[in-house]
Amino acid sequence: MPILKGTEEPHDPVCFKEDGSRLDGRALDEIRSFSCEVGVIKNAQGSALVRHGGNQIYAAVYGPREVHPRHMAKPDRGILRVYYRMCTFSVHERKSPAPNRRENEISKVIREALEPVLFLEAYPDSQIEIYIEVVAADGGTRCASTTAASLALADAGIPMKSLVVGVAAGKAQDKVILDLGDKEDKVGQADVPAVVVMKDKTISLLQFDGEMTAEEMELGFKYILKGAEDIYQKQLEALKSKYMQISDEVKIENVEVAKHTSAVPETKEASSEAVPATPKAPVDVPAEKQGESSEKVPETPVSEASAPETPAPEAPKQGDDN
Ligand code: UDP
Repeated sequence: MPILKGTEEPHDPVCFKEDGSRLDGRALDEIRSFSCEVGVIKNAQGSALVRHGGNQIYAAVYGPREVHPRHMAKPDRGILRVYYRMCTFSVHERKSPAPNRRENEISKVIREALEPVLFLEAYPDSQIEIYIEVVAADGGTRCASTTAASLALADAGIPMKSLVVGVAAGKAQDKVILDLGDKEDKVGQADVPAVVVMKDKTISLLQFDGEMTAEEMELGFKYILKGAEDIYQKQLEALKSKYMQISDEVKIENVEVAKHTSAVPETKEASSEAVPATPKAPVDVPAEKQGESSEKVPETPVSEASAPETPAPEAPKQGDDN
């Protein structure tokens, strides 16, 4: 939304080059560079980092857990708490570290944009908290923060009806544009931040500041849906890439477990006919690795994340030998 501060130079309203392209070279309906990853904060239950244009935003999720103070708890549903904060060094002019009204308002709208996709009724007396830290701000931080929060919730394993994506349309120099950069945000004629629920393309947040005709709004919405789809694909890639990594780790663990489990039965070769239940090594265990050492006690170091999907083969029981 346009912000002109008294201490700043009046902004030059030009947002386009002479050839009609935007100052950063983007097409009217093109999003800024976007990348994201999940699981970036070790101490949180779920987390995400979003780089959207010059924005760099972390989101961390905790919960569902007990509500404090207790009287805030709701007996029939969980509550969602969102804390959006901009770091002091995130903007050109030093921002006071004290939380301000703008941050409280943005926390509230992000919460309202996320609530429709959560099953809060499944968590009576509990809360889910989302902490959002804007490390670098470049316009559209409420949208990028919502995108990050959605990813962090998914990373925390909290059931959701859909991922959501935040992206704005707007208008500058009489042209409708997608995903306003900082300057376009500040000097443009209109800013329409929106959050799209990707499953059914409904809108869970819509704000409007400035002036646009109905036709321009319609075009703006087309741009928003296009931009949201582009970002959504990156969200999915980030989540898949984490689960591919877990899957690779599980495979390695299984190979290790198989090495140990296939080693122990060497001592019972003589009675192998009587022990049909000895676990087999997975097919991807190299033959030369099987049955390496019978001395090792099999450990079953299956991580928490991997346990439900790929249970480790059981170590042979002592009694099996007889
Ligand atoms: N901004 C700033 N100082 C502030 C708050 C915001 O310089 O105290 C900048 C920041 O780059 C932000 C932009 O102004 O992204 C637009 O802020 P707005 O309130 O419109 O929210 P946003 O567009 O970031 O959701």
